Amino acid sequence: MIIDCHGHYTTAPAAHSAWREQQVAAWEAGTTPPSYPSISDDEIRETIETSQLRLMDERGIDVTLFSPRASAMAHHIGDSAVSEEWARRCNDLVHRVATLYPDRFVPVAQLPQSPGADLGASIAELRRCVEELGFVGCNLNPDPSGGFWTSPPLTDRSWYALYEAAIELGVPAMVHVSASATPVFHATGAYYINADTTAFMQLVQGNLFGELPELRLVIPHGGGAVPYHWGRYRGLADMLGQPPVESNVMGNVFFDTCVYHQPGIDLLLDVIDTPNILFGSEMVGAVRGIDERTGHHYDDTRRYVEASTLDDEARAAVFEYNVRRVYPRLARALAG
Ligand SMILES: [Zn+2]
Repeated sequence: MIIDCHGHYTTAPAAHSAWREQQVAAWEAGTTPPSYPSISDDEIRETIETSQLRLMDERGIDVTLFSPRASAMAHHIGDSAVSEEWARRCNDLVHRVATLYPDRFVPVAQLPQSPGADLGASIAELRRCVEELGFVGCNLNPDPSGGFWTSPPLTDRSWYALYEAAIELGVPAMVHVSASATPVFHATGAYYINADTTAFMQLVQGNLFGELPELRLVIPHGGGAVPYHWGRYRGLADMLGQPPVESNVMGNVFFDTCVYHQPGIDLLLDVIDTPNILFGSEMVGAVRGIDERTGHHYDDTRRYVEASTLDDEARAAVFEYNVRRVYPRLARALAG
């Protein structure tokens, strides 16, 4: 079985996105947003079967861990009440997708984070999603400000209540920023990758997993720049008097395979131990085109993993078993 740990509902029905615009406009005007539109099952089927599901079938991906569109989380817009309602609507929508296709999509939650707000609402929404709706993980934004990095590092105790809830619920968190609020950072080209790298270095500098040994974090997009600069992080850990990254970080951190060329995937698989790698593609998402050098979609990451030198056992671990281990609720979700 091939399980993609990283998919977003980027083709959500137009009425859903239009309502978000109305919600933001109402917040800016100090008025009440219109009620959320009625969206039929057929509209959802249409948006899924013509894009995400079609591509999964073409590429031989059995199951996708499916979360709301990451760039649309936009935690920097509005206030915490705006984020709470938006997260609920988005999570309810991906839950409907998972309900319509229970053997193909398993839902992962958006959290209603907001700059400066405590994590109470995020913990409540995570509990609702996991306990009532069968979600198996969440996306945790390390920078709800949208590029200004006003939050403390992920090792700060202000994050612990959320981590403790995730541990209690048995779900990992994927560290995932949203849209960039500054033209300095292109969202998917710069901000995503530098956020992955920043999160990893925060973990190298801290002792988060010494204090919370059951916490599991997924760093997407192949771990940002980390595998390429692995020697830098090992050396910095030594220089800073920190334990080796292998024991201080890598017992609890996993990188996905959202790297869009063969040499990048080969390097990831060479540098990072196989148990720390989860298959992911982030489609339909960041890079939608076809690579003229290969004739295949850049984000068809299964091809790169298949073409790597991994043996059969390691390949099966990346495609399925590591994802199941990191997302223990997945087995229950797939069993219906
Ligand atoms: Zn993503």
